[in-house]
Amino acid sequence: MIKILDGQQIHKSFHIDKEKIKILREVSITIYEGEFISIMGPSGSGKSTLLYVLSGMDSFDSGEIIFNNQRLTACGEKELADIRRQQMGFVFQQPAFLKNVTIMDNIVLPAMRDNRKKVKALTTKAQQLLESTGIGQLASRMTNQVSGGQLQRAGICRALINEPKIIFGDEPTGALNSKTAEEIMDHFLQINQEGTTIMLVTHDPKVAAKSERVLFMKDGEIVDELWLGKLLQQRGMENRIEKVTRKM
Ligand code: ADP
Ligand code: MG
Repeated sequence: MIKILDGQQIHKSFHIDKEKIKILREVSITIYEGEFISIMGPSGSGKSTLLYVLSGMDSFDSGEIIFNNQRLTACGEKELADIRRQQMGFVFQQPAFLKNVTIMDNIVLPAMRDNRKKVKALTTKAQQLLESTGIGQLASRMTNQVSGGQLQRAGICRALINEPKIIFGDEPTGALNSKTAEEIMDHFLQINQEGTTIMLVTHDPKVAAKSERVLFMKDGEIVDELWLGKLLQQRGMENRIEKVTRKM
């Protein structure tokens, strides 16, 4: 198995007034290429912070992060921004889109930064991605003319346009009804089956049950781990996840 992301002994604190609050306490995590991993845990346990630190979005106090053979701690700001833009994809609970711009442009414009001369190729690619998420007919709509679920599909297309090595999702299904959440989740599964590594923060056992491995966080630490294996959507997994969650 090839390591795609390796975080070792990560510490992070926030200073609030004169108090130092530990948010991540010696967190170590290794993610292998092609894995689909979920992070669960109570609100405030540090899930989002871990995701932001691992993806180079947020700083940390000590520890080491190696992504795709690159030491993130050794990267300058520009280099880090390039890695994030070219090799990582991000999907958030409420995707931020440019207003008064079409769905298509929202996907193509950010990607043009790395592919200035390839507008046509990018547009074709974006259209294919939109078709595959079932919203091919919405390419020329403005972002305020589509539903939340459709916008999240567009968010996934935007995350995929640069063919990232890994997709990070922070509660990407959190704002959606359960049917739409399931469809979005099935889409993540499809992307994963095509080879992209996925790391999702979720509070939904149903979502986590579809992943390969579930990590449980509490008070800034990884306190438990469940390997569900490649046989996805196995029966009973949701119950196992709920059991661990109850114990925490
Ligand atoms: P989760 O995603 O599991 O709900 P977070 O990673 O968002 O948790 O937050 C973990 C802890 O860090 C929380 O107690 C939160 O209040 C605190 N925290 C997060 N961001 C900041 C910040 N910018 N400044 C101070 N404290 C923060
Ligand atoms: Mg969070």
